[in-house]
Amino acid sequence: MSGAHRLIRGRVLTFTDDPAEHGSRAYSTIRDGAVLVAGGRIEAVGEAPDILARAPADAIIDDHSGSFIMAGFIDAHVHYSQTQVIGSYGAQLLDWLTNYTFVEEQKFVDPAHCARVADFFLDELFRSGTTTAMVYCTVHPESVDAFFAAAEARGARMIAGKVMMDRDAPTALMDTARQGYDESKALIERWRGRGRLDYAITPRFAVTSTQAQLDAAGALLREFPHCYVQTHANENKAEIARVATLFPEAGSYLDVYARAGLLGPRSVFGHCIHLQDSEVAALAESRSIAAFCPTSNLFLGSGLFDQARLRQAGVRIALATDVGGGTSYSMLHTAAEGYKVLQLNGESWPAVQAFYRMTLGNARALSLDDRIGSIEPGKEADLIALDPRATPSLAHRMETTDGSLEVELFALLMLGDDRAVRQTYVAGEPRKAEMASAVTNRLA
Ligand SMILES: [Zn+2]
Repeated sequence: MSGAHRLIRGRVLTFTDDPAEHGSRAYSTIRDGAVLVAGGRIEAVGEAPDILARAPADAIIDDHSGSFIMAGFIDAHVHYSQTQVIGSYGAQLLDWLTNYTFVEEQKFVDPAHCARVADFFLDELFRSGTTTAMVYCTVHPESVDAFFAAAEARGARMIAGKVMMDRDAPTALMDTARQGYDESKALIERWRGRGRLDYAITPRFAVTSTQAQLDAAGALLREFPHCYVQTHANENKAEIARVATLFPEAGSYLDVYARAGLLGPRSVFGHCIHLQDSEVAALAESRSIAAFCPTSNLFLGSGLFDQARLRQAGVRIALATDVGGGTSYSMLHTAAEGYKVLQLNGESWPAVQAFYRMTLGNARALSLDDRIGSIEPGKEADLIALDPRATPSLAHRMETTDGSLEVELFALLMLGDDRAVRQTYVAGEPRKAEMASAVTNRLA
């Protein structure tokens, strides 16, 4: 990366804490603000005239006046292998896997296919304003190599891992406990800590892993305690019944993972909908993370995530798309659906809390808040420019706002999607090139 400076001007919004606990003291805004970036990091943030005065004369100036400048969105649970089964009709979890996912994932035996899909996926994330994600690859090590290579080429901070499955799946998608361990270990040694990349040990879920494989995953975590763990838990009632049959000795679904040593502060459990009280307590005590995947939970008819219950118990929570069970790459759209899910549980979710969750909140859930998730000098320059008047509907709606941040952010949340993302900066570099030309055309 060059030493060139870039000055990004707009309405800066950043979080220092959780507004659910600290109210308006948890965030700050600068209406005519600017962020100065160089070498992939944030060098300064403040009032635009001050930052303009201190920027070098040859700094590139990106003027997004009227748009919000925020930290890039973070997606805590997503499958890059499912970009061509997203929006497939009519199934709940176990049929979805059999009829669509397990057919699709067999294509990832071909490295050329992996590379093509990884490129599409990352470009689609950036188009949607997402700069970091925790990603499931497939059982094939080639799928992990392709994903990390594509992320590295873009300078993106990404977490990913090879799916481990040694039963109840097509033969072409199965490893063994030993092979899953050996291949994961080789991938960890090849990729973990290289540039901005990190590794997640990834047993798909208890239905498709034997006790031996889950134990092997636990052994990997003990050997590489800085790795993440990602898996699924308590998504669907038929799934939970199947786990109870497969692991009669376990006290609950989550207990299957606990017995394998897979709970912990870097372990992200997708869904966590139908939890017993003992499971909620185990999540809280182990500081594990529950990933709320609203579009997926609605689409697959899985159930309603109970944020208030988990929050009250002290469980750490993240927000995620779960594409392709989820139906949108956009975290804006995902949070809007999340709002509706919480409404059905009688809970409200102010927009500032949702924007916190998509940025600093998810960074904290993934223990990355020392690097990303907010706009502060020294942090990595993953930033987005969000236009609250990007579409006719948004522009029309904004005519009636009273200028308050909460009103504007809530309308942006409900009506916004990838079209509201004017630009996405990954390590300070603009990565939404096609959108930039669209903006130019509109102004012309
Ligand atoms: Zn998932």
